[in-house]
Amino acid sequence: MNYNVNEQGYYGEFGGAYIPEMLYPNVEELRQNYLKVMSDDAFQKEFKELLKEYVGRPTPLYYAKRFSEKYNTKVYLKREDLCHTGAHKVNNTIGQILMAKRLKKTRIIAETGAGQHGVATATVCALMGLECIVYMGAIDIERQAPNVARMKMLGATVVPATSGSKTLKDATNEAIRDWINHPEDTHYIIGSVVGPHPYPDMVARFQSVISEEIKTQLLEKEGREHPDYVVACVGGGSNAAGAYYHYLDNPDVGIIAVEAAGKGIDTGQSAATSALGKVGIIHGSKTLLMQTNDGQITEPYSISAGLDYPGVGPMHAHLFQSGRGEFISITDKASMEAGIALSKLEGIIPAIETSHALAIFETRKFKPDDIVVVNLSGRGDKDLTTYIDYFNL
Ligand SMILES: *Cc1c(COP(=O)(O)O)cnc(C)c1O
Repeated sequence: MNYNVNEQGYYGEFGGAYIPEMLYPNVEELRQNYLKVMSDDAFQKEFKELLKEYVGRPTPLYYAKRFSEKYNTKVYLKREDLCHTGAHKVNNTIGQILMAKRLKKTRIIAETGAGQHGVATATVCALMGLECIVYMGAIDIERQAPNVARMKMLGATVVPATSGSKTLKDATNEAIRDWINHPEDTHYIIGSVVGPHPYPDMVARFQSVISEEIKTQLLEKEGREHPDYVVACVGGGSNAAGAYYHYLDNPDVGIIAVEAAGKGIDTGQSAATSALGKVGIIHGSKTLLMQTNDGQITEPYSISAGLDYPGVGPMHAHLFQSGRGEFISITDKASMEAGIALSKLEGIIPAIETSHALAIFETRKFKPDDIVVVNLSGRGDKDLTTYIDYFNL
């Protein structure tokens, strides 16, 4: 079984490029060039150098001693929370801004929900001196004032999407419309392993630096490159794709994907796509998504903004359907408690997205000598008010 993308842009039956004809030239230009550009030595040199000097890579692979003792297994944390801007997202935006420059694009657009991808995009546009337009639902703009302020400070223009539910999917529609109208000079930076081919593959490759580093670091610490399990939370699936990437074809490595159950899978307030989704098309890609019987996308819910997405990337849909990945869903409550647990045991306050991955140890048992790597996708500073309100801190 092949778990990576094939020539046609599919992972099993998932993926492809289901796009309006008017978008075809833009996506096709990217498809024809992305592998060529990424395999260029000068491109790799510049990418690696920025990851080192600007992002602060390699991020540590930290043995969490007290956390391990509590759960009677060996847990390593891949510290993506220590990346510049506080999460893994910047690995991808650095890669894509360099891609945009190679394709001679001078204008960058993005869509954002909670604003985290918008901030990561505005950051690299400031770094490169490129114009940056971020589409964001009008309601999200109200809810996420600090990230809107960050984007403005970084020089980006934040454009409200005022149609529909005024949230992420409407912002995505606006960004796509913009791209159709500016095919020559504009690159659209998508923030996860979603969207039409080649985006899922391109983003997975940029994020694959995570598992590339885990291999080297684990060899140093444990004498072997592979853990028994690699665990990551899945919104769209980019931090997970990066953490799994170099282990996809190694059957000795168990792949564990953690989704947001929200208030519970059966409550109608959930984002657990593998449990609730059916095959459909979202964001130009065939994948699993939460939808009504007539195929209307269902509004997802999670306490964590980054997991509040009605689909998963096609790689993950395939990992689920083929049985290669073990999918676990975690409620708001369990994730919030895991966030406190890690803070008190290790002095690390995780993002609530990440807390979902940490929560599995309460129910999923591992052997004492299992080596389990958890991708610590982001830090909790951005979630402080949610933690405060939830626990009356
Ligand atoms: C955005 C985000 C996620 C979810 O996005 P993926 O593409 O699934 O990785 C997870 N954790 C953090 C900290 C995030 O900022």
